[in-house]
Amino acid sequence: MSLDLTAAAPAAPTTADDGVWLACIECGETFAPFSSIRYTCDHCDGLLEVRYADPPTFEDFAGDGVWRYAAALPFEEGVSLPEGSTPLHHVPRLESEVGVERLRVKHEGMNPTGSFKDRGMTVGVRVAKELGVGRLACASTGNTSAALAAYGARGGMATLVLLPAGKVAAGKIAQAALHDARILEVDGNFDDCLDIVQELAARGEVYLLNSLNPFRLEGQKTIGLEILEEFRADHDTYPDRIVLPVGNAGNTSALYKCFRELVQSGALDPADVPKLTGVQAEGAAPLVEAVEEGNDGIRRWPDVETVATAIRIGNPVNAPKALPGIRATGGTAVAVSDEAITDAQRALAGEGVGVEPASAASIAGLRKLRDQGVVDADEQVVCLTTGHLLKDPDAAFEAGNDPEPVPNDAEAVLEHIAE
Ligand SMILES: *Cc1c(COP(=O)(O)O)cnc(C)c1O
Ligand SMILES: [Zn+2]
Repeated sequence: MSLDLTAAAPAAPTTADDGVWLACIECGETFAPFSSIRYTCDHCDGLLEVRYADPPTFEDFAGDGVWRYAAALPFEEGVSLPEGSTPLHHVPRLESEVGVERLRVKHEGMNPTGSFKDRGMTVGVRVAKELGVGRLACASTGNTSAALAAYGARGGMATLVLLPAGKVAAGKIAQAALHDARILEVDGNFDDCLDIVQELAARGEVYLLNSLNPFRLEGQKTIGLEILEEFRADHDTYPDRIVLPVGNAGNTSALYKCFRELVQSGALDPADVPKLTGVQAEGAAPLVEAVEEGNDGIRRWPDVETVATAIRIGNPVNAPKALPGIRATGGTAVAVSDEAITDAQRALAGEGVGVEPASAASIAGLRKLRDQGVVDADEQVVCLTTGHLLKDPDAAFEAGNDPEPVPNDAEAVLEHIAE
């Protein structure tokens, strides 16, 4: 199968442009990458993947941020703010409470617009320029719209975002608004928004920058490259497991692609590939269902609900790329309750790491898998936190302490805090 972890690097087809091409993950058909716009296979509608004649090795990388990894990307530079080079935090109290040998938190909320979506957009908007398109668009649970609006603005391009009405956190809409996106609120959920924007893209009205766009996942691969390099620099080894929240499963797919390409180039031993472990909210867990039932595809969940609005998704479009990754790396997927997510958000905040609810799902999932004995005590784990606390101020107020009104008087304040 084309998504095998140990498959050899593919030979470049005649359609390749400078060693880069698109390939269908279902039927294997190849396409020139920049001569025309397509998001899925012309023949079978399967997902497309960017392929390279020369997969990268660690020696090819130089500089900082996403573009340090230009050798793994289709361009030398992009429309940049800049993005990447996010911290890999020690969280000693959480590490001992969860009970694993080593726990690190890769805080993607420290990107320019506060989520990992920036890594995809720096590449995606660069590709949009190459293709000469006029208007960029996405459906979004919030963070994609914030990133698209900012990177579109940076690139001098018009942006259109479709959001599920009433289900997007305040910080994210504020970003899209100020970065000058046209914001269309749809009376439906995220999956409905994605159906509509795909239709607009199919009619040639907009260039689609959801994670269905294979170039976005190229940028997001750099999360994996950073984790491997940083972890090895600090600990002289690679993590056993990477735990991440799953919405459309773009990141899960991107991390798996990162590992496959490093294995292809000989830079990474297949035995060193971290186990990809996806976490969803119980109210939106179609990928967990597919993993638990051993299904090849997912069943679309029509009604989804969770406090973690960034992963409130019932039809993860990248499941055909992500499921093979979870299986081939020996990983798994787990669903967690909203209470567990909020508890984990508080626990991270207690280490000084402020994240939005979806991000905390990674920690909640690790806790649950450790309790179940699926994760061993001797494991070295990296949890991905995908978005910043300020993205969702309402959730933070809900999870955190209430402000206390006090009189305008020092004595009275002293009395109050002594209570
Ligand atoms: C987009 C997003 C996710 C989901 O990522 P996928 O790649 O779609 O699985 C998770 N958390 C946050 C904060 C996000 O913005
Ligand atoms: Zn195909």
